[in-house]
Amino acid sequence: MSFPAAQVAILGSTGSIGRNTLEVIAASQGTLQAVALSAHSSVDLLLRQAAQFRPRWVACSDPEAASTCDWSQLAEGIEKLCGAEALETIARAPEVDVVVAAIVGSAGLRGTWAAVEAGKTIALANKETMVVAGPLVTRLANQTGARIVPVDSEHSAVFQAMQAGRRQEVKRIILTASGGPFRKHTAEQLAGVTVEDALRHPTWNMGPKITIDSATMMNKALEIIEARWLFDLRPDQIDVVVHPQSIVHSLVEFVDGSVLAQLGTPDMKLPIQYALTYPRRTPGVATPLDFTQTMRLDFEPPDFERFPALELGLEVARTGGTSGVVLNAANEAAVARFRAGELQFTEIVPSCRAILEQHDFDPSPSLAELEKLDTWARQEVLRWACL
Ligand code: NAD
Ligand code: MG
Repeated sequence: MSFPAAQVAILGSTGSIGRNTLEVIAASQGTLQAVALSAHSSVDLLLRQAAQFRPRWVACSDPEAASTCDWSQLAEGIEKLCGAEALETIARAPEVDVVVAAIVGSAGLRGTWAAVEAGKTIALANKETMVVAGPLVTRLANQTGARIVPVDSEHSAVFQAMQAGRRQEVKRIILTASGGPFRKHTAEQLAGVTVEDALRHPTWNMGPKITIDSATMMNKALEIIEARWLFDLRPDQIDVVVHPQSIVHSLVEFVDGSVLAQLGTPDMKLPIQYALTYPRRTPGVATPLDFTQTMRLDFEPPDFERFPALELGLEVARTGGTSGVVLNAANEAAVARFRAGELQFTEIVPSCRAILEQHDFDPSPSLAELEKLDTWARQEVLRWACL
């Protein structure tokens, strides 16, 4: 049986997930088509992508970049949209079947929200959306019939493994973590970490923000919160295990004690393709695992003392409400300050904790309240003085 080509809009097509998504589309033999692409400031790359994939729309969300770009290179028939609202226009377009949420940070929320409102299928890479507004997003998706399929490799693994049993038969999930580049660092070594060190991930090749989050293990903290809302799990049903090879992408334990895992090479093309073709599977573009070579799969408990982000993630998963937006915004701002040489690596997580503890907690905030707190938390990080 043949299906009409799925029309895919990529919010954040110039990033690491966006580029991998285009590789999946290019290899799909016409079953997937890029109908819309978006970039913030990498307009040159956006134009090159447009020349290759011939989408109906290209969007540049940064008005300054849009105004300085030479759009004359854009092929005829491709419509250009500018400004942050362009992301919502694309996400809602009736021609779009699947929206890939591949923007980094809480800047991804607006476009994802519009896609959920319009009842689309969303291939969700932008975990910050779930951290900031998980309960609001899932409630809206239930109302509109939007389907959210995770792209984050751990959540894709959980999503796939969960299909082996019924929902009420799931006892817990175990998210795997590579442990990042500093898995074996002592507390003293962690204090001296440079930006270059933190940007060198041992197993995954990703955008800079998530790479630094992996080094602090804030990425796993955000993923605990993401899993809590995405799968409607109690926080005590979510565990983390360090697995340095990044081959087992996560595990689901069922009530009878059976544990199911999903395995693959550390290549985002696999979970991206699965999210785009779900519930079908199509021949893969990711490098397959090679079982003719000796392969080790190690698992070890995480160190909550050296990586205090993990405890913070569990706490925020338990408290919910406004905690997620504050943790996320504080972390985004702290990572930016670390990259600018203004904060030490070991100050990222304590600054997030301090700001979280200072904030005016609300157990069931509106979207407008979340936006205000996002701005507030970023300002607080700017005021945060080094110890
Ligand atoms: P990246 O930095 O490589 O790319 C980010 C994309 O977002 C770019 O296209 C950029 O133009 C766009 N963007 C940045 N700021 C924007 C703004 N203010 N408004 C609109 N667009 C903006 O990031 P990435 O590594 O591809 O990660 C994207 C998302 O996917 C993140 O939420 C990340 O946590 C998640 N994720 C990434 C990976 C990975 O392997 N890279 C794995 C799992 C999850
Ligand atoms: Mg992940």
